[in-house]
Amino acid sequence: MRNEREQMGTVIVIDPGHGGENEGTLEHLYGDIEKEMTLDTSRAIFDALSEYEDVEVYLTREEDKDLSLGERAEYAKSVGADFMFSIHYNASLDHSLYGAEVWIPSDEPYMKKGLDFAIPMLHYFDEEGLFIRGAKTRINSRGRNYYGIIREATARGIPCVIIEHCHVDHENDVGYCASPEDLIRFGQLDAQCIAGYLGLSKDGETPILNNDFAGDESSARNTLADPLCCDISVESEDDTGVVINVKAEDADSLLLYYDYTTDGGSSFTQKIPIPGYDYFEQKYDREFSCRIDLDRQKTSDIYFRVYNTFNGTKVSKCIRLEARPRPVEEEEPELIVVSEEFQPKEFDVKEEKGTIILWVLLVLALSLTAVLISLLIRRGNNRNKGI
Ligand SMILES: [Zn+2]
Repeated sequence: MRNEREQMGTVIVIDPGHGGENEGTLEHLYGDIEKEMTLDTSRAIFDALSEYEDVEVYLTREEDKDLSLGERAEYAKSVGADFMFSIHYNASLDHSLYGAEVWIPSDEPYMKKGLDFAIPMLHYFDEEGLFIRGAKTRINSRGRNYYGIIREATARGIPCVIIEHCHVDHENDVGYCASPEDLIRFGQLDAQCIAGYLGLSKDGETPILNNDFAGDESSARNTLADPLCCDISVESEDDTGVVINVKAEDADSLLLYYDYTTDGGSSFTQKIPIPGYDYFEQKYDREFSCRIDLDRQKTSDIYFRVYNTFNGTKVSKCIRLEARPRPVEEEEPELIVVSEEFQPKEFDVKEEKGTIILWVLLVLALSLTAVLISLLIRRGNNRNKGI
């Protein structure tokens, strides 16, 4: 327990999520266990922050052990934490989600502090190439913070956020958390953002954060409503596919992804970012076109789904594209390649006729000559015989 807090600088508590029996997600595509990943990243945060001046850094656990959320928050209070950062890696039930997100408290003054930290943190993740799912609150059925660590910490007067770095069960993200170096890299990014946010300095320098954000606290509030609409229509079609026009909107949160089926719902594409989606600009395209390649010899039943920040979903109507008759293939005329030497001469009727006449005349002349000769011979013979 600290008594002379003002002399001890900034106090930061890092909470490696899970531990002991509570292993966290086991869905990592390469088999890593979340409780170990969070500890590796937390140790890297500890090491990086320890290089800054006037700071004390604590870990809620330094080994693989069970700790209740209350115990973690109580520990943070016991060391006089100015801020608590709970370190996690994410997975979704159907393994379809990807991207980074930061959960923040839903009540003031903690909500604003949480958002002010989360925006630059998400900018760091954005620069790494991760999809940004946003900074947000999550409330339970009683209207309180859903996540126990945030509830327990703020109940003790300590601002707290949960950093969900990426989704370990999705191929888009697993490359970001595939090796020990990746987990350390995340820790270093976290530490840089924590230092910048809390104004810590090292060698006289404080990390400069990117705070660009077109939204405000209302953008982070947990809305439970599904998106307003998801309407689709056929824009054009041809023998190899179709272009679908999609109009989709949400009243009070962003739309993040869409997916679609062409077989009436037996299978879906992976979730695709809504065109124009930009978390920091707080915008997305409310109308877009989507080209789908299809086997037009089969009937296709197409519908779309859109997802908002809080996984609220809207499903479009289903459009049936009937199978098309197989297009008649025009037979290509057979191409005969003839070399120039053997190019047949064009048939000249006049020339041919002349040749025939000449031949006939020649035969007649020869016949006539033969007759004359035979007559002369016969006359000679008669003369010799004295007839
Ligand atoms: Zn976790």
